[in-house]
Amino acid sequence: MKEIEKIDEMKRLRQQLAEPVGLVPTMGYLHEGHLALVRQARVENPSVVVSIFVNPAQFGPREDLKSYPRDPERDLALLEKEGVDIVFMPSVAEMYPAQFSSWVEVGKITERLEGASRPGHFRGVTTVVAKLFNIIQPNKAYFGQKDAQQAIVIKKMVADLNMNLEIVTLPTVREPDGLAMSSRNAYLNPQERQAALVLYQALSLAEQLWSQGEKDAERIRQEMTALIQKQPLAEIDYVSIADAKTLDELDRVSPPVLVSLAVRIGKTRLIDNIVLE
Ligand code: AMP
Repeated sequence: MKEIEKIDEMKRLRQQLAEPVGLVPTMGYLHEGHLALVRQARVENPSVVVSIFVNPAQFGPREDLKSYPRDPERDLALLEKEGVDIVFMPSVAEMYPAQFSSWVEVGKITERLEGASRPGHFRGVTTVVAKLFNIIQPNKAYFGQKDAQQAIVIKKMVADLNMNLEIVTLPTVREPDGLAMSSRNAYLNPQERQAALVLYQALSLAEQLWSQGEKDAERIRQEMTALIQKQPLAEIDYVSIADAKTLDELDRVSPPVLVSLAVRIGKTRLIDNIVLE
């Protein structure tokens, strides 16, 4: 496994890789959710590149860029075991030199949900992902359903800008009790870890109500909200029932529907979602 920090070196090595090349972009502090993407990339491609880059451009000024968990040595050991060919781990100065001034913006769907709560977030995501696609030139790139809106936004960018690759989305990997795996779970103390279950409980409630025939989206939002409000450590950012393609909020549940939420548990902001089909 090669560890590469320089863009020129990455581009040079790319020429020698057997195609198709699969890319898994990450911010590191890897868990089983990331590794599921790596394993699928390994199955589908003779060459697998994983990028590790905590992208400052996608963090707001009051967000957790500085404290974001990092453990490159552990990440490299995990990726080595998965048989990854190249780990691309550039510095911030390598990706954003002083004179950097070009940005990729995808428009309307980036203004909803995460985009509404985190202004500028998706501009940072799409810019760094476009740069990674240009540098690594993957044939396929792998993203998790855990960040449902991100996957939708990346697919839209690829379609709108005629990028020459396939985007693969894989299911959310959960802890045995239902909590979606996330690098940010490392912030939770034991009490908060227990409280964080409320996200999955609220999603499960939505699924249950829907499968019992409830079609009124507002009714489901209200039931989810009431459940979360019973948890004293939880503070709701949003609870959404939206069209899974346009991300428009719905009055009536008509599948496929993205049920998604962002909830603060103490200081930690967690997101999760399910799709009703
Ligand atoms: P991150 O390091 O948080 O930027 O995540 C890198 C990639 O892993 C993104 O495509 C995420 O959607 C994906 N990912 C993160 N957590 C999970 C999870 N629990 N299950 C599946 N994919 C995930």
